[in-house]
Amino acid sequence: MKMIRERIKYVVRRLDPLWAGSTFPGGALAIAQGHRTAAKHHPRRIAIFGGSFDPIHNGHLSAARAADRRFNFDELHFIPASRPPHKLKQHLAPFPHRFAMVSLACTEHPHFVPSLAEAGEDFSGTQLHYSVDTVRYFRHVYHGDRLFFIIGADAFLDIPMWKEYETLLTLCDFIIANRPGIRPEALRLVIPPDVIARPDAKKETEPPSQVVAQLHKTTIYLLENVSSDVSATDVRRQAHKGQSIHGLVSARVEEYILKQGLYRDLR
Ligand code: ATP
Repeated sequence: MKMIRERIKYVVRRLDPLWAGSTFPGGALAIAQGHRTAAKHHPRRIAIFGGSFDPIHNGHLSAARAADRRFNFDELHFIPASRPPHKLKQHLAPFPHRFAMVSLACTEHPHFVPSLAEAGEDFSGTQLHYSVDTVRYFRHVYHGDRLFFIIGADAFLDIPMWKEYETLLTLCDFIIANRPGIRPEALRLVIPPDVIARPDAKKETEPPSQVVAQLHKTTIYLLENVSSDVSATDVRRQAHKGQSIHGLVSARVEEYILKQGLYRDLR
């Protein structure tokens, strides 16, 4: 087994000099995911959706499906976070469980891809990863394609706390799934004014209500009325109390949680 892993690393290093000894996230499998599908667009439209996914639930999936309907992605990668920097104190289900649930949730969608980009070299998902590095990594693997970052409005409001967030906003387009009670003006306020393009530079043809801001190189889009109220916290609580989680997560994820006895003990 160890020999096989070493062999994969050797082949990947030869294929991808940037990966060798670099701080890029992702492992051999994450690289193999690149250039996998028959393209619908040129350049291809690649979306990434990161989260702790503890567990992935129907709120995540309905936001992803709504984004997909609007932008018609070639691939949408769900990236379970290794240890989200903003949730370091929170106990998370081990990475392999969160990845397994993401994989099960992706099964019915041909271009929804469970991603190991933050699994780390040993696939344990125990290292710290920052979104800006993950996006750089995808830009490298999908060089020349159009990259979108899907995020919930609650998470977007916290973005000024993220590593190199001003750079992050300029690396790819953003799609914000609005959440109940968050006004678009509040989303605009967290964007630094100097990255916003001058009004006469606007190239976007979408209705203004669907664009939060046009930046110099990228666009921040808004998806209205797509989010449900489901949260992973609710799912964990219900499972902990032995209550039904039917309808909150996909049927396969529900079955997995029950079979593995996840969230029975909450820390
Ligand atoms: P928790 O309850 O543990 O904080 P969560 O339900 O917010 O978790 P995360 O995995 O932390 O789920 O979220 C990943 C991403 O999905 C974030 O960008 C978050 O804003 C977004 N998101 C979470 N729930 C929803 C929802 N119901 N609708 C739309 N987006 C959501």
